[in-house]
Amino acid sequence: METNTHPLLSILNTQQRAAVTTPIGPVLVLAGPGSGKTRVLTHRIAWMLSEMDVAPWHVLAVTFTNKAAREMRQRLNVMLGDARTGSMALGTFHATCARILRREAENLGLSPSYLIFDSDDQLTVMKQIVADLGLDDKRYRPRALLNAVSSAKNELLSPTDYPVRTYYDEIVARAYARYQETLHQNDGLDFDDLLMKTARLFETDAEVLSRYRDRYRHVLVDEFQDTNVAQYAILKQLTHKHRSLYVVADEDQSIYSWRGADYRNIVRLRQDFPELQTHLLEENYRSTQIILDGAQAIIARNPDRTPKHLFTDKQGGHPIVLHEAYDEQEEADYVAREATRLLRAGYRHGDIAVMYRTNAQSRALEETFIRHNLPYRLIGATRFYSRKEIKDVLAFLRLAQNPDDDVSFMRVVNVPPRGIGSTTLGKVSAQAQNHQCSLYQGLLSLVESDGLRSRAERVLTAFATMLHQWVELREAYSVTRLIDRILADTGYESYTRDGSDQGESRWENVMALRAVVAETPGIALLDFLTEVALVADVDELADEVDAVTLLTLHSAKGLEYPVVFLTGLEEGLLPHSRSMDSPMEVAEERRLLYVGMTRAEQRLYLTYAFRRSWRGYRDSEPSSPSRFLEDLPDEALKQPEDQKRRAARPSGAAKPWGAESSRPETRARPEPQYRSGQRVKHAFYGEGMVIECEFEGRNEMVTVLFSNGVGVKKFLSGMAPMEPLADH
Ligand code: ATP
Ligand code: MG
Repeated sequence: METNTHPLLSILNTQQRAAVTTPIGPVLVLAGPGSGKTRVLTHRIAWMLSEMDVAPWHVLAVTFTNKAAREMRQRLNVMLGDARTGSMALGTFHATCARILRREAENLGLSPSYLIFDSDDQLTVMKQIVADLGLDDKRYRPRALLNAVSSAKNELLSPTDYPVRTYYDEIVARAYARYQETLHQNDGLDFDDLLMKTARLFETDAEVLSRYRDRYRHVLVDEFQDTNVAQYAILKQLTHKHRSLYVVADEDQSIYSWRGADYRNIVRLRQDFPELQTHLLEENYRSTQIILDGAQAIIARNPDRTPKHLFTDKQGGHPIVLHEAYDEQEEADYVAREATRLLRAGYRHGDIAVMYRTNAQSRALEETFIRHNLPYRLIGATRFYSRKEIKDVLAFLRLAQNPDDDVSFMRVVNVPPRGIGSTTLGKVSAQAQNHQCSLYQGLLSLVESDGLRSRAERVLTAFATMLHQWVELREAYSVTRLIDRILADTGYESYTRDGSDQGESRWENVMALRAVVAETPGIALLDFLTEVALVADVDELADEVDAVTLLTLHSAKGLEYPVVFLTGLEEGLLPHSRSMDSPMEVAEERRLLYVGMTRAEQRLYLTYAFRRSWRGYRDSEPSSPSRFLEDLPDEALKQPEDQKRRAARPSGAAKPWGAESSRPETRARPEPQYRSGQRVKHAFYGEGMVIECEFEGRNEMVTVLFSNGVGVKKFLSGMAPMEPLADH
């Protein structure tokens, strides 16, 4: 076969081609960012289907997000046609497991119509448990308990396996057991359950396992470095017999250990599959040489990593811009101004991404973008599906699917306000407890025994009737029709549209939800609810909108943009203060920066602020630049024509950046003459304060705010008749 001209291979390099066409067996493609791992994986699937006689229904491909799965399916459809890929399983681990569990529910003593509990639901349940167990919620924070439960599940530890060393552990184990009971009573599973229950199922039921082994004879995984113990167990169980497992990974991009990801899975893979073939990809197609050099210099400082060779033919490129702002506000202004400038130069909004470590950092950026009239979309923080009105409507729908879901019941029993107080509800929950049944069943039995007499109580009767009707209508109605009915029955429109702008936008959201449903006519309620529950932050990224993307570094995985701003590169943010005590965690923070930098194709901006107000304090505190910035090479930050002067830099080990009192100096640029916050005196404009300093190549540009109505001026520091005033 003429492999060089095969249409599936012609747009690949030699290493990629070898990886795509390698014989079936356990394969690891280990390579740096932008080297085409995802592309190779996609082409491998196409190759297997078209050249290796593999049937599409024997393939399971796992991606990190639903969005990545959608894109991969689209590419495959283009390459092979929809007919070839329709029966192929392609999705995240969670979506795949959700499907398996739905099918195998009976083998697990699970209702086939189980619902997935999201993090809010989980918190509601855990709070109740903390209260029920009479625990102090300051010492035993529900969120902390949930984290412990989540880690346990990701390690496949059941409540009885939970290792108890301290009293706290004992509380966790008890809360965990109680939590599982509650989910079970509500016919609910949380995200981690999806994985754990699937792994358990495969472990305990040989018949089921052998069925899935035959079904998913070939398994392929993207972003393998971020799989956790439970996911690895599932992969191993599925593939250990037929031994067709194809994974792509980059240890340097492992950034989810806080969610149980364990890059030692790569080591396990080698042990479990000794015949593993490893392929390396070394050419980067995403970034310019300068960006790549900068990123390599950062990651090279991590201990215990395998050095990787990466090159690109995009030599040179724009220098990386390092920018110090006065505070987070000024930083946001800088990003907005610079973005505007790039837009004028021909970039589209969608070419630009602004990334940060924590969700809270988006606020200053958002406000500024609104002021600058820059369209943006925010990934994360205000997730569509976590808005109150959306959660309300979903809770009604969930009750129509399963009225015994106590969490949803409690959420909406008094929404819109029906005048149901805690005394009335107390009666229902006492009834439920006495009869060991759900709140809904408790309510029904009260209604039947005529136990609800007062006016407030009769409202509950109406509520019960309403729920009952929805349950009855569920099969006959389409989901859109059911939504309309629910909105009418509950008077939800007049409740949300209270005449305020927020009210209008809440109602628009409800209508947007209805529109989402209408896009898939004929979808069953249960399927819709499952799909919604599995939507992750990045999945909400609609590609058609032309807007600047604001997102956390964690959600930037696998994505690429012509222009990237990485903001808040300060000690305490990146590395995050939570991780500063542990070298392992600092190494992960460094990888996070590396992931961010390697998203950039042409232009990369690194910004930090001299002061920042955070952790909810109004007054800002001085901050120091991230220690990671020290490792940036001069070359990456300089204009190319300045390179010959590079040798002039004093050699010697990098000094740690100064304490917050003295302005830190970066060895990556010439000595700055000014710093943000500094008072200066200008020959014409008089006294002012420096609000921004930045280097363009070796030139220091200083922006000063003058008083007396002069306003903001920008100077080249060496040229302006201006001098610093002594601090006092
Ligand atoms: P990451 O580690 O960030 O997930 P990756 O290794 O998965 O990156 P891809 O996203 O597959 O890399 O590829 C990076 C970019 O390079 C994409 O835009 C892809 O289309 C392009 N690319 C990959 N291989 C080639 C090639 N042989 N020729 C041209 N472009 C390529
Ligand atoms: Mg990728």
